[in-house]
Amino acid sequence: MATLEIRDLHVAVEDKEILRGVNLTVRAGETHAIMGPNGSGKSTLAYAIAGHPKYDVTGGEVLLDGENVLDMTVDERARAGVFLAMQYPVEVPGVSVSNFLRTAVTAVRGEAPKLRDFSKEMRGAMAELQIDPAFAQRNLNEGFSGGEKKRHEILQLEMLKPKVAVLDETDSGLDIDALKVVSEGVNRFREGGETGVLLITHYTRILRYVKPDFVHVFASGRVVEEGGPELAELLESEGYEKFTKAGASA
Ligand code: ADP
Ligand code: MG
Ligand code: MG
Repeated sequence: MATLEIRDLHVAVEDKEILRGVNLTVRAGETHAIMGPNGSGKSTLAYAIAGHPKYDVTGGEVLLDGENVLDMTVDERARAGVFLAMQYPVEVPGVSVSNFLRTAVTAVRGEAPKLRDFSKEMRGAMAELQIDPAFAQRNLNEGFSGGEKKRHEILQLEMLKPKVAVLDETDSGLDIDALKVVSEGVNRFREGGETGVLLITHYTRILRYVKPDFVHVFASGRVVEEGGPELAELLESEGYEKFTKAGASA
């Protein structure tokens, strides 16, 4: 069973320390929510795990089943089973969803699937997720609605079957269609019990649909409070103020 272990992680952006000692363990079958105010470093954590070059790891470790993810290239991280939903948010003219997925599958599996096998697999996954087959021929992210971006995200999860999925649901405000797609997709995906999910969010709304097993409150670049789903409810009624004060003085 896969385990992602983040130990005393320190990350700087342009010489400014953003993450100040993050500790977090995500096991297969568990869903963890990371919640925190804007600017607390939630996306920085996701980018650092992904290996974005702008984020300097100045201390600590990220281990996947004991292997140091931080020593791996971005491709090696994907192959090891780490999935970042925000990894490819850009529009790529001339690259279809289908082309993109085949490239991603090739990177993760270390060899290109036969086109016929891949097409069959993709059609199957799309049918299960009730995605219109025409979606495969769309240009990547071009004119995608919020819901379509999320469909694509969940389709990637389904095809890549990562050990750990980090979903940064940002603050961009998911519309109700997108919220439904991502929550149904995540719930369906985690039923298998083989994947750990790290769901990053500013708002509690998505947590009504995806019930986390653990909630971690982030403030000023570290985890300042931990609990179960009841912690999300407390945040919904009381906001982050109490925790931002705790974070600032820590
Ligand atoms: P959150 O996702 O919790 O809103 P972020 O991780 O995006 O927080 O940002 C945390 C802090 O790091 C902010 O002060 C932000 O300005 C800074 N930061 C994050 N990414 C960058 C970047 N690429 N360049 C400069 N500063 C950044
Ligand atoms: Mg932000
Ligand atoms: Mg963010």
